[in-house]
Amino acid sequence: MNLSLQTIAQATKGSLHGPAEQTVTGVAFDSRQVKAGDLFVALVGDKDGHDYIDQALKNGATGVLAQTQHVIDGAVPAVVVDDTLAGLQELAKFYLQTIQPKVVAITGSNGKTTTKDMVAAILATKYQTFKTPANFNNEIGLPVTILTMPATTEVLVLEMGMDRPGQLTALSTLAQPDLDVITMIGEAHLEFFKTRTNIAKAKLEIIAGLKPGGELLIPKDEPLLQDAEGLPANTVSFGPEPKDCVETLQETKFSDQGQEFAIPLLGRYNVRNALAAIRVGQAFDLDLQTIASALKNFALTKNRTQLLTAANGAMVISDVYNANPTATKEVLSALAKDHTENLVLVLGDMLELGEAAPALHASLKEAVLQAQPKAVYLVGPLMVENLGTVLKETLPSDQVHLYQTDQLEALVTDLTKDLDSNDCVFLKASHGIHLEKVVDHLVTDQ
Ligand code: ATP
Ligand code: MG
Repeated sequence: MNLSLQTIAQATKGSLHGPAEQTVTGVAFDSRQVKAGDLFVALVGDKDGHDYIDQALKNGATGVLAQTQHVIDGAVPAVVVDDTLAGLQELAKFYLQTIQPKVVAITGSNGKTTTKDMVAAILATKYQTFKTPANFNNEIGLPVTILTMPATTEVLVLEMGMDRPGQLTALSTLAQPDLDVITMIGEAHLEFFKTRTNIAKAKLEIIAGLKPGGELLIPKDEPLLQDAEGLPANTVSFGPEPKDCVETLQETKFSDQGQEFAIPLLGRYNVRNALAAIRVGQAFDLDLQTIASALKNFALTKNRTQLLTAANGAMVISDVYNANPTATKEVLSALAKDHTENLVLVLGDMLELGEAAPALHASLKEAVLQAQPKAVYLVGPLMVENLGTVLKETLPSDQVHLYQTDQLEALVTDLTKDLDSNDCVFLKASHGIHLEKVVDHLVTDQ
């Protein structure tokens, strides 16, 4: 982007302090990440961004978006607004209207980032495509994503996160999507929402800003969405995945509409994500062959069923970014089908499941046994007390190792000692368990 302070003041209805013609070419809210030419947005949260203005200027910021009640040095080129977060959002709205890309918005309890990466890989074969970097999917990340998009962008693929009612209404109204995707309704945030019906309702807020005539894409096998009231006229369904998917550790093959697809990912849930992405590609006039070759080669955001090699040569499958009961069972069943010998499982707590959490952890027993692991390492109180207890009824106790969340170092030590070079270690947990630390040790430390 390239915006003058005057334009920013107009777009945010703020007051201009400094040279009107001064321009900014990027945006940052973390002073450590400011690059030369950036607009530094002084957000007020746990920390007050206004305390970091000097640091941001030192790093090359050429303008600051600040809040009225803060006294800022008269020499600092700034636009002053009532609320910097609202100002950031207004600025994003303005920039979006200037560039006018087509907008695809993706939400869902799980699979947002994966589907977003697939959709962007597909659309990039024909269009200048820009996507949400990493996981920038909330009321701060979304406007920053928009403001980071190159001026030549034809399609913008946005991930939208949701952990409370009203949030998606705001994000969707800001982004005004042409096409909305809801990947699935899961158990995530059940603690807060209580029922899946409430979750579905909150996800459907993604249509709040859908452009007139815009399309909504939802899973065919989710009645909470299919039977919901007020769906747009242009509502299309995807999935479920075909029964005869062929899964190996390296890839999953399936066919759709007569076309063969292979995605470099484990788990049937990723077939569902791919089916959604295929539909988006078709909505943008791409043929199935082009879509298939884009999906074959696309790169996944880090730590989602990523294949790595441990220092001793063992295979490491890192899926430590997130975990829920459905996905964990499916990925274990993919491992079981691959008849992986010498499989070692490292499973950590699945968080935010509310009252059902103990039973949902214990419910992994069958899937674990079917994968026939040579050893299971469980991390966290929910895994230890629930899955640990039921596994010990069946497996010899020296095959089941238990750790609390603060014992990751002991886990690394034991695991490293037990690991053979022809083993395959699969690691999965909610992000809060930080199994990525174990992965880092395995891959670099031996
Ligand atoms: P976040 O809310 O943290 O941004 P996300 O929705 O972006 O998560 P991804 O990062 O794509 O989700 O995937 C995280 C994990 O969710 C995967 O490793 C897998 O365990 C699970 N998952 C992905 N897609 C699905 C799906 N369609 N159904 C069920 N689980 C899924
Ligand atoms: Mg995500």
